[in-house]
Amino acid sequence: MFIFDAHADTLSVLAQANGEYHLGTLAGSHVSLPKMQKAGISAQIFAVYVPKNYSPGLALHMALKMADIFWQNMERYSEQLLPVLSRSDLHMLEQALPRIGCLLSLEGGEPLEGSLANLRNLFRLGVRAMTLTWNHRNQLGDGVGEGERASGLSKFGCEVVAEMNNLGMLVDVSHLSERGFWDVLAISQEPVIASHSNAYSLCQHPRNLSDDQIRALADRGGVIGVNFYPRHVTNTPENCTIDQVVDQIIYLYQTGGSDVVAMGSDFDGINSTPSGLEDVEKIPSLIPALEKRGLSTTAIEKIMGRNLLRVVKQILPEKSS
Ligand SMILES: [Zn+2]
Repeated sequence: MFIFDAHADTLSVLAQANGEYHLGTLAGSHVSLPKMQKAGISAQIFAVYVPKNYSPGLALHMALKMADIFWQNMERYSEQLLPVLSRSDLHMLEQALPRIGCLLSLEGGEPLEGSLANLRNLFRLGVRAMTLTWNHRNQLGDGVGEGERASGLSKFGCEVVAEMNNLGMLVDVSHLSERGFWDVLAISQEPVIASHSNAYSLCQHPRNLSDDQIRALADRGGVIGVNFYPRHVTNTPENCTIDQVVDQIIYLYQTGGSDVVAMGSDFDGINSTPSGLEDVEKIPSLIPALEKRGLSTTAIEKIMGRNLLRVVKQILPEKSS
């Protein structure tokens, strides 16, 4: 089965380790090369998240450092990992398993530092997806953390979405305010993703999506990566198990249809996990759990990776230049 996860923060763990560990030697993290191999992961999106204290001034500096960590690992493990920059890389990946496809994304547009030139340069460095904001306001727009006073996208944010469409980058609305979400849907010419978000109806956390948002995102051909963070999964996070994650998957499936659900673990960005989904090695446990709820093999294959693969194929450029 093609298992494809839309969001992990493992580059942050590697950045903190300061060169002491690599994807093959990491211990104690949710994601590592041996764990991905054991789970049979086909592809993973690795996020560059730059903490707020680097802005203004050092956000781009830090993002470049983390992109370097990504590329050092791609070079070190070139026989096991395949950097994915284009549709042709995805075709190669489908033919050349068991190499694991790795995509680079940006979580929050702070490293752009207000410049479309920086967006293009980060694309040239391999960044193929971007969450426009984290929880707070940035130059692109407002995150969900701005609460009831949150606005949508800024003029620059709108220009960024248009340029991401031109370049072949996935626009990611996780963390974005609801007004920003609707702005993105109004202006993006391509399907958008919510790489790590859940359904608000099941868990009343501001990071989660309303039924209207789920349906609108599905109508435009996008996907929602189910987030494993207990606080985003259920209103009783202290008792969170894999069953509540399955409830989220089933809810998104019933609300948005079989083409909208994907994996968005948020591994290595969360300080607790559901029991039964402690790290990436446990992801395959979702397959029998979904079978038990009566989902067909085709539906499960879509949820575990084919839906996300479809959108990434649709958006990435045909060939790496
Ligand atoms: Zn996040």
